[in-house]
Amino acid sequence: MTVTLETKLEDIFRLKDFQKAALRKLCLITIEDLLRHIPTRHTEHANVSSIASLVVGASATLEGKIAKIDFEKTWKKRLNIARAELIDDTGKLSLVWFHQPYIARMLHDDDLVRIHGKVGEKNGKRFIANPTYEKISGLSWRGTDAGLEATYPETRGISSRWLSYHIAKTFTLINIDAWIDSLPPYILEKYHLPSLQQSFRAIHFPKNEREIEAARKRLAFEEIFYIQLIRMRERMTLEEKTSLRITYDKKILKEFLSRLPFTLTKTQSTILATILEDLSRATPMARLLEGDVGSGKTIIAAAAAYMTAHSEYQSAYMSPTEILARQHFETFCRYIGSESCKIGLLVSSEARVYPSKVAWGSSAHIPKSQLLRWLASGEIKILIGTHALLSEKIVFKKLASIVVDEQHRFGISQRSRLAHSKSAGHNLVPHFLSMTATPIPRTLALTIFGDLDLAVLDETPPGKALTMTEILIRPKERAWNHIRKELNAGRQAFIICPRIEHDEEKTEQKSVKEEYEKISRSLLPEYKAAMLHGKMTSREKEKIMNEFRDNKIKILVSTSLVEVGIDIPNATIMVVEGAERFGLAQLHQLRGRIGRGAHTSYFYAVTDSSSHSTRARLKALKEARNGFELAEYDLQLRGPGELVGRNQWGISDLGMEALKNIKMVEAARTEARNMLTENRELQNYPRLQQKLLAINRSLYHFE
Ligand code: ADP
Ligand code: MG
Repeated sequence: MTVTLETKLEDIFRLKDFQKAALRKLCLITIEDLLRHIPTRHTEHANVSSIASLVVGASATLEGKIAKIDFEKTWKKRLNIARAELIDDTGKLSLVWFHQPYIARMLHDDDLVRIHGKVGEKNGKRFIANPTYEKISGLSWRGTDAGLEATYPETRGISSRWLSYHIAKTFTLINIDAWIDSLPPYILEKYHLPSLQQSFRAIHFPKNEREIEAARKRLAFEEIFYIQLIRMRERMTLEEKTSLRITYDKKILKEFLSRLPFTLTKTQSTILATILEDLSRATPMARLLEGDVGSGKTIIAAAAAYMTAHSEYQSAYMSPTEILARQHFETFCRYIGSESCKIGLLVSSEARVYPSKVAWGSSAHIPKSQLLRWLASGEIKILIGTHALLSEKIVFKKLASIVVDEQHRFGISQRSRLAHSKSAGHNLVPHFLSMTATPIPRTLALTIFGDLDLAVLDETPPGKALTMTEILIRPKERAWNHIRKELNAGRQAFIICPRIEHDEEKTEQKSVKEEYEKISRSLLPEYKAAMLHGKMTSREKEKIMNEFRDNKIKILVSTSLVEVGIDIPNATIMVVEGAERFGLAQLHQLRGRIGRGAHTSYFYAVTDSSSHSTRARLKALKEARNGFELAEYDLQLRGPGELVGRNQWGISDLGMEALKNIKMVEAARTEARNMLTENRELQNYPRLQQKLLAINRSLYHFE
């Protein structure tokens, strides 16, 4: 059989069921997956000599196969002797062990071993007496004497050695054609990148650090480059599509804005103008609005929805959770709801409409079927909801724009599908606005959102109460006294813990359940506390959030679940336990949950760790006013693992590493743009075409 990079591991290796399961767990299905399973580290391993090159009197490390193992007990001399032969590609060597009876149990013919000992000679025959030995599952990479040994991320059932052995094996099995590089030669040359085959060889069986670096650089560049090609091509395709033009009438807008209880900041106004300009074109808008928590993104979306409604078109607004969908629904109703601009809410549990026919100025529960009728007739102009918007059988009359809050990716195909299947009688692509408060470093945004125009809302609205940040190393009596003080003054508090439940092995880590018990039993029994965490149903979570918002619950003990978008102005104090366990950007987002009302707020980051780096990080948190700054800081100093939501982006750890390097990211962008301008279909690069097709398939898995 021809073995290619796509060949499945189970087709070439005889695998036991538990190994198959373990490989699946590591997401290793094909040879390519295996080759892209990058070692976590490389350690220098002993210089492995060949038998032919041994020098008598010197110590040596050898690798080879055990043969002719034999035992001898000489009763007279009370001697216990084990003998064997070690065979490698260059010859044979005698091994002998004295007084080591367990060798008989440990070593067998055909075992692969690495041995170490001093070479002796007797009657012109060389041997090693009492060598230390270690069983190995594969021989080290041959063709190099000195080298580095790779250690891999393991899982139960698949050891690092197993991986190393099988990776070495694939090199001997792969058909030579499989190595044809999908990166064109001119790019390899220009950026001094090793070929695919060289890179894989070097990453798994490196001769030295330099080789590893070069290989990592190539593999990382490649990943970033492919994603950018895909995104840019998407963008080019989008630009050929048509969308509904939303009239941008300055007078109506001005009148709308004058009814708001505040004035837009300068940055808000500029961004709103840009977005309305986008909407007035017949080419679909594709924009990402990045803005820190509390920077006031909602009103921008609301203004755009209002203008859309004014053009007699519809818009949809999708939130990540039911709690947020309801919150936005209320905000929208307050700002724009009227008899002529009905607003609908659709979540899995119910449908609502504003304004209600009976209760003036409030919303009413309606049957879903009624909501669907009003959407189809165009009576409901704005629909707000969760993913239910996608799954339900909704038909709009004319859906002109979609706003998506905190979803990270919502591809063109999804957008068009939504509009195609859902707008009767038109097959235009809706305008698209994605909003995020997730602090994403610039390099990452340029890559994963390469198909979107960026707008950054980096000005905080005025009149915000201050949030004071304090870092506490245990004990934290101060925080408790302070919480009590805030509660006495009628305010509310958040306590954030890193875990849901107590863990016997990690007793130092605070858990939601334990803290809740402690608070409600002994610490602050006079105030009503409640728990919030990911193991609760969305109904339970919603009930708790509503009671907290209505000030019935005074203390909310929660995991980091509360980080997205929740707006509770009366909550003025937050204590984060185990603060060192959170990324800085995440802490910043948590901090954004308080300081939303008129009162000064207090944020306590509590930690047990007095390490220098923890202190330095938390100090950065105290000083920074901006989540994007903190995300950059964590990316550079601690690595991509600290970034909020990184698992949703579909980039490998190695690819994420590349994002520390702005030059590399920009080079990849330039090359991608040049290549696509030359030919959108990449006809001159069939291998690359194939590659992108495969990646595209896997990327959409994430969306
Ligand atoms: P986010 O960007 O996190 O979604 P929101 O849109 O929820 O932020 O806005 C946060 C708060 O700031 C809201 O209570 C909102 O009414 C208020 N706000 C928005 N813009 C302004 C402004 N220009 N001046 C004063 N307050 C504002
Ligand atoms: Mg928001």
